[in-house]
Amino acid sequence: MTYDKKTIEDIQVAGRKVLVRCDFNVPMKDFVITDENRLVGALPTITYLVKNGAKVILCSHLGKPKGQPKPELSLEPVAKRLSELLKKTVLFAADDNVVGNTARKAVEAMADGDVILLQNVRYREEETQNGDVFSKELASLAEIFVNDAFGTAHRAHSSTVGVTQFVETSVCGYLIEKELRYLGEAVANPKRPMVAILGGAKISDKIQVINNLLDKVDGLVIGGGMAYTFMKAQGYEIGTSLLEEEKIDYALEMINKAKEKGVKLLLPVDNVCGKTFAADTECVVTENQNISAGFMGLDIGPKSIQLFKSELEQAKTVVWNGPMGVFEFDNFAKGTLAIAETLAALDATTIIGGGDSAAAVNQLGFGDKMSHISTGGGASLEFLEGKVLPGIDACDDK
Ligand code: AMP
Repeated sequence: MTYDKKTIEDIQVAGRKVLVRCDFNVPMKDFVITDENRLVGALPTITYLVKNGAKVILCSHLGKPKGQPKPELSLEPVAKRLSELLKKTVLFAADDNVVGNTARKAVEAMADGDVILLQNVRYREEETQNGDVFSKELASLAEIFVNDAFGTAHRAHSSTVGVTQFVETSVCGYLIEKELRYLGEAVANPKRPMVAILGGAKISDKIQVINNLLDKVDGLVIGGGMAYTFMKAQGYEIGTSLLEEEKIDYALEMINKAKEKGVKLLLPVDNVCGKTFAADTECVVTENQNISAGFMGLDIGPKSIQLFKSELEQAKTVVWNGPMGVFEFDNFAKGTLAIAETLAALDATTIIGGGDSAAAVNQLGFGDKMSHISTGGGASLEFLEGKVLPGIDACDDK
């Protein structure tokens, strides 16, 4: 899917009220933001609008308050941190109705270049239903709508899709533009060889993406929990590792598709196993693919790391989604760490597809070594699957 949508540079914003849908759905602990990737990603659009004299009204969701005000899911800490990052006050419109009297008054009082942040849009239950009433209320605050929430672009909600029906103009912000540039180039016109790395728990979450990527890549590396269904399909013993029995036929189909397409499909050749799914379980490395009864594969082994590494070192484009093992447990994080290290050292376009792999890369300190870390796990997967992203589709064409 390719998009040719208007962006903030295609319209006049001076003196106009601009509603910007951001993705401020950030992890927080005790009201402190623990990963700022999404906040930092939103800054270029906000800065551009401020510099160009717009009245900037930001909105976002945070977590799943399910249509109720929930103080622990208030966006107030985001307004505070954004003020620091922008070196400019971001006024928080503390309004449990999101677009109630408090928010309206705050918007009326805005001068050109001011920035306010509305309350969590999911405090309103119509948000996720894409309800017209809430979409109209949001639209009534502004003339222009900017969607810059890539992480929510795969959802048709009031603040991503509904609102576009009731404003003059809807355009994409810089973050969505950047995401589309990197992900779009990787899919449409990659520098070759292109290798995709898929991991994480389940095949069933990534069925379409495996199928679609096999039409595009030169190499496909599969690790993590999902690798064991592929290994079982090839007749190996997998002990008590994750298995999706009903996906064995699909795994075989994909193995055959890779052969037909001439795609090099790499699976683990050894494993780091535990007796139970626990951080302190006894750790055993297998000689080869086979895992003994009573053990479960929780990470790729050293030979697999070498094999994957040598394949990745040839690549000019790499797309990675999903960890190689249970990286939350130190004993089973080596595979994921090694892949992150390998990508960080490559002279290639490296794209991390959001979610757990993005968190792992950032936590391990390799964030700035990658070409692009997507701010949307689900959205980047749906993009790689070739699906239409409704939040982007709803913006005006060029
Ligand atoms: P996903 O959301 O599908 O990308 O899966 C991410 C999760 O997969 C992480 O929480 C990992 O701990 C988990 N995971 C990765 N490898 C394994 C494995 N071998 N067994 C069980 N869980 C795994």
